[in-house]
Amino acid sequence: MSKNEYIFVVVAHSDDQIFGPGGTLIKYASEGKKIKTIIFSYGVLANPHYKKDVIRKIRYDESTEADKFIGGDGTIFFDMNEGKFEKEFYKKKYDQELKNLILKYKPQKIFTHATDDNLPDHKIVSKLVLETYDKLSKEQKFKTNIYTFGVWRFFKLKQRNSPRLVVDISETFDKKIEALKIFKSQLNSMISLKWSVYIKAFSAGFKHNMSLAEEFYKLR
Ligand SMILES: [Zn+2]
Repeated sequence: MSKNEYIFVVVAHSDDQIFGPGGTLIKYASEGKKIKTIIFSYGVLANPHYKKDVIRKIRYDESTEADKFIGGDGTIFFDMNEGKFEKEFYKKKYDQELKNLILKYKPQKIFTHATDDNLPDHKIVSKLVLETYDKLSKEQKFKTNIYTFGVWRFFKLKQRNSPRLVVDISETFDKKIEALKIFKSQLNSMISLKWSVYIKAFSAGFKHNMSLAEEFYKLR
């Protein structure tokens, strides 16, 4: 595998990349792959009592620190408001920016949210990534692989037949948990979601004969 192999992860909020494919990203980075994280929103609405600029800086600092910790190759923020991704993505020309980034780095894989995620913002990111990629691949004949990660649940019928990518994260799971702790401003979601990180890793591992795993569905 080439040393300059790029991997993109495109998410709604500043900690989703660790919650979702964190163990996989840590593993890929340790193999020399370059991980670029694209985050749609600073999540300013989640903490309405703080000034927006304060939140932006906190999110930026935490994501950058987590990115360094996992051995990533940088984090790019798109400054969209939660709940308005679909409108702002095109209005603020982030579709073009995403296309440019894909053409510049030619990622081998793009990870993003599941199309049936429970959170509307997650679902829309997934939709916009697929829309952008489909147009791009038609216009430029560029092809890559798009994988999705989702909230924990037993599988849905629709996904049962899509090809899967299973990554053994037995060696990187502890580091994923450490990376999650960097997001101190997200302590609430951390507490409510942390159990799902364990259950997902155990159940995916169990299914595929590994001790801990992350599982993805290939949509393109
Ligand atoms: Zn999120």
